[in-house]
Amino acid sequence: MVGGPEEHGVSVAENLARVRERIAAASARVSRRTPGEVRIVAVSKTQSAAAVLEAIAAGVDAIGENRVQEAAAKRSLASGTVPWHLVGPLQRNKVRQALEHFDLIETVDRPELADRLETLLAPLDRVLPVLIEVNIGGEPQKSGVTPASTPALVEHLLERSPHLRLEGLMTVPPYDADPQRSRPHFSALRGLAADLAARFDTKPLALSMGMSDDFEVAVEEGATWIRLGRVLFGERRTPA
Ligand SMILES: *Cc1c(COP(=O)(O)O)cnc(C)c1O
Repeated sequence: MVGGPEEHGVSVAENLARVRERIAAASARVSRRTPGEVRIVAVSKTQSAAAVLEAIAAGVDAIGENRVQEAAAKRSLASGTVPWHLVGPLQRNKVRQALEHFDLIETVDRPELADRLETLLAPLDRVLPVLIEVNIGGEPQKSGVTPASTPALVEHLLERSPHLRLEGLMTVPPYDADPQRSRPHFSALRGLAADLAARFDTKPLALSMGMSDDFEVAVEEGATWIRLGRVLFGERRTPA
C-alpha cells in the first residue's frame, strides 16, 4: 500500500505551496487573471482523515469527496471549518445522506436529482449551493448533462428549485495524457457559462475545472475552482 504524504517526507502544506506558485505562474501567463480568483478543492478520496486535517490546516478552500459514505466517515473526524464538496455522481437513494455531509454539490446533472434535493431541502428551509456537471466531451459513459441540455437544466433550477442556488458549472474533460488536450474543453465550458449567464441574466458562473494533471491549463482558461487530489496528497491509497 502506498503511504500518506508524511511517509514520503513531503507535507500537504509544502505541496500546496508549490501548487500556489504554479497557479500564480499560470495566472501571469494570461492577462485576465489574478491568482486569488482560483480556489482549491482538496479531493481526499482514499486518503486518511489525518491527511484531510493537514489539508485544512494548510489552508485549502474546500474538501472534495466523490463518495457519500467515505465523506461521512472522515467528516466526523475533521472539524467543520471548510465546506465539503461532493464531486462524484449522486444516486437518488443517497441524496438524504449527501445532504448531511456536504455543503455544496458539484454534480447536479438531471432534473430528477434537482427535484429530489428540492423535496428534502424545502422543509428544512435550507438553501444548497450547487454546480451543474457538464459532460463537455460528450462521452457516452460519463455522468454530466450534455452542453445542449444544459440550458434546460439551468432553467429548471432557476424556476423550479428555489432551495438550490446555482453557483456555476463543473466538468471532467475526456482523459488525455497531454494536458493541452483539455484546453478546448475548458474553453468550451467557459463559453457555455458565459452564454448561460447572459441568457438567464445571472451573476458570473463559477467554473470548477482542472485536476492534478491539467490545473494550470484550467487556470489559464478561467477556472475559479480547481479540484486537486494527487498533487496535494500523493498517490491514492488502495481503496479499503
Ligand atoms: C479524484 C477526482 C479529482 C482529483 O483528481 P487528481 O487527478 O488526483 O487531482 C478531481 N475531480 C474529481 C471529480 C475526482 O473524482
